[in-house]
Amino acid sequence: MILDLKGVGEQTAAKFYKLGIVSIKDLVEHYPKEHEDRRSVVAINNMAIGEVNNIIGRVVMRPEVSPTKYGIRVSVWIGDGTGKVKAVFFGQPYLKSTFIVGELFNFYGKVMLNGGKFEMQSPEFQKACNYTAMIVPIYASTVKLSQKVIRQHMANALKVIDIVENLPQELLEKYKLMGKKEAINNIHFPVTPDSFFQARRRLVFEELFLLQLCLYKLKQDFKTRNEGTQKHMPDDFNSFIKCLPFQLTGAQKRVTAEILKDMSSFYATNRLIQGDVGSGKTAIAAISLFVAVRNGYQAALMAPTEVLARQHFEFLEQLFKQFNINVALLTGSITKKQKRLLLEDINSIDIVVGTHALLEDNVTFNNLGLVITDEQHRFGVRQRFKFSDKGVHPDVLVMSATPIPRTLALILYGDMDISVIDELPPGRVPIKTNAVTTGYYDRIFSFMKTHIGEGRQCYIICPMVEENEKLEELKSVVEYSNELSESVFKGYRVEHLHGKMKGSQKNEIMERFAGGEVDILVSTTVVEVGVNVPNATIMLIENAERFGLAQLHQLRGRVGRGLHESFCILVSDSKNKDTKERLKIMQQSTDGFVIADTDLKLRGGGDFFGTKQHGLPEMKIANLYTDMEVLKIVQAQLEQDKDVLEDKYGSLLASRMQEIIL
Ligand code: ADP
Ligand code: MG
Repeated sequence: MILDLKGVGEQTAAKFYKLGIVSIKDLVEHYPKEHEDRRSVVAINNMAIGEVNNIIGRVVMRPEVSPTKYGIRVSVWIGDGTGKVKAVFFGQPYLKSTFIVGELFNFYGKVMLNGGKFEMQSPEFQKACNYTAMIVPIYASTVKLSQKVIRQHMANALKVIDIVENLPQELLEKYKLMGKKEAINNIHFPVTPDSFFQARRRLVFEELFLLQLCLYKLKQDFKTRNEGTQKHMPDDFNSFIKCLPFQLTGAQKRVTAEILKDMSSFYATNRLIQGDVGSGKTAIAAISLFVAVRNGYQAALMAPTEVLARQHFEFLEQLFKQFNINVALLTGSITKKQKRLLLEDINSIDIVVGTHALLEDNVTFNNLGLVITDEQHRFGVRQRFKFSDKGVHPDVLVMSATPIPRTLALILYGDMDISVIDELPPGRVPIKTNAVTTGYYDRIFSFMKTHIGEGRQCYIICPMVEENEKLEELKSVVEYSNELSESVFKGYRVEHLHGKMKGSQKNEIMERFAGGEVDILVSTTVVEVGVNVPNATIMLIENAERFGLAQLHQLRGRVGRGLHESFCILVSDSKNKDTKERLKIMQQSTDGFVIADTDLKLRGGGDFFGTKQHGLPEMKIANLYTDMEVLKIVQAQLEQDKDVLEDKYGSLLASRMQEIIL
């Protein structure tokens, strides 16, 4: 436990807990986000203005102390014979007795010119006798835990922890990998840049290797490539296609053909359908369901939210009625009795639509021939496998709107065929996106009123409010919708929706919104995926800085689904450079792949590629884009070992499987 470390008391421990660090192992696995090279010291008159400099100098006079509105200011002049620099600190009055005239200190901080003089604001400092030329780690720290304190405890932790090698010797030798202990030490306190790179390479290898190993094992256990069922083209296929409310796009036709070919083959279908938001994946699902049912099989469709499951259910029920195909809904919010009746009668049901409630053990099918997972990225890997395990080698389709980079696709769907719907239905007017500050509310609201006047509807999205957050800064859904309906939107039909509401309540509101009985839906991100209300044309996103690009793109995808021109308004007062860049991309592009790509460049990982989005644990060190080379090596190795996974890596598997596969 972190409390066992010398110098860590309850208070410090509590701060570490906030970072998710409980044990000493957690601490040493809290890898630095970057390093600073402090191996050389510059002379004061050689300092680079506007940049961070590392200097050593003597305190040349007694510190000055003066009150300011930011707290007590202590300023101290440091000289090294070549020049002088003033270091300024706020709110730390005790520093006046730290800086004793004549003593040597090491300062590290950004230098500015103030009235022609050098000045460093709140630099890091230490007594010069403690200074050691080194490469210094910088850690992610969200709480009041200084870099200095983390570093000091990290150094202690590294001294006491017993680090055991976990990769087989054979791999270490074959790929010239640094030993684990050395790697952990060097990832924190590298002696040279090269030792850092070697350490990183080793840890990236380990991380990707363990992840891939577990996924390989899982795939083997579930044997996805299997003899399946051969399904034939139904006689009334064409009349079914004619019953769809639109003509299929070229891309939809192509993907349908790919699926039909799979379904009619000897092997079970195992296909990922990728298509940007609004590209029309539901229709593809409907066609596949039809084919399965006409061949005498049951089929199931799973969606990540109640709202979406119900929406699919209603669409399919309506569509299939005329073909005498019955559809049932199974979600967490149907009553116990309804559920019991459904399960008793499940053999007479052709298609079951539901949420992850479908995965419960007591849900068993008689003759399941096709399973479809919609918005697949919202489910964990294990859930994907569990779903297909409900039948005997059923055809498997997974649908996703999240553009997946090749790297991640290889990790996650290495065993799947991929179809891409790369065309939007015709007649769509591109969505106009604007990023504005809260100063624009008057104009936004009157813009909304104009559109509501023309019969359209609007979404207003507020970020989810976490318990410990200051409520007043963020608009909470309930309060905000009340406020709006009593002021600017008095007389309008305003409703709200959030995740904590009862399922039946959510459904009712969503149905009324879809039926055009609500003008403005104030909601959290529960409407983020899949929801389809083509008459809604304005998407207003509050505190847009709180959302990642992937999320903004998904949310925006709720509008622009019909023939009317649609708008997305991103409201944010944030001055943060990253945020501004993100919002700018949203204004410039509506193409999910372009946005994802920019996201990647901007943030290395980006939230499109955040592994969490895809049901995998967060990577501690590997970057799924830049570490592609290592990934390939790992995959080649595992491919070679695939028949001896248990023999060779049994203990690794045992230790990590639970952790890695959620
Ligand atoms: P997503 O791929 O995001 O799941 P949906 O299947 O919900 O997209 O379809 C988005 C909207 O486009 C829906 O209103 C749907 O009725 C409509 N749509 C789908 N395919 C076509 C098409 N070929 N022509 C016209 N509209 C279509
Ligand atoms: Mg969809």
